[in-house]
Amino acid sequence: MTRCPECDAEIDLDEDEVEEGEILSCPECDSELEVTQTHPVHLIVLSEDEDEDEEATDDEESSVEEEEEDEEEEEEAE
Ligand SMILES: [Zn+2]
Repeated sequence: MTRCPECDAEIDLDEDEVEEGEILSCPECDSELEVTQTHPVHLIVLSEDEDEDEEATDDEESSVEEEEEDEEEEEEAE
């Protein structure tokens, strides 16, 4: 019996019917799962962020991180 690495639901897979690299959907949480191994079947969760790879979002995250770092430095200096 294989379990979903995301929600731990049991997934009834026949290891002879899946191939390495095959993408499955968890019937419980709808996560995309990749088969990384077939004997026994081993699944990993595929990141859902890849579709939303926007530069604007990335810039925002970087500037927030920089601000936090600056604050820490100031506290240390005092
Ligand atoms: Zn799941």
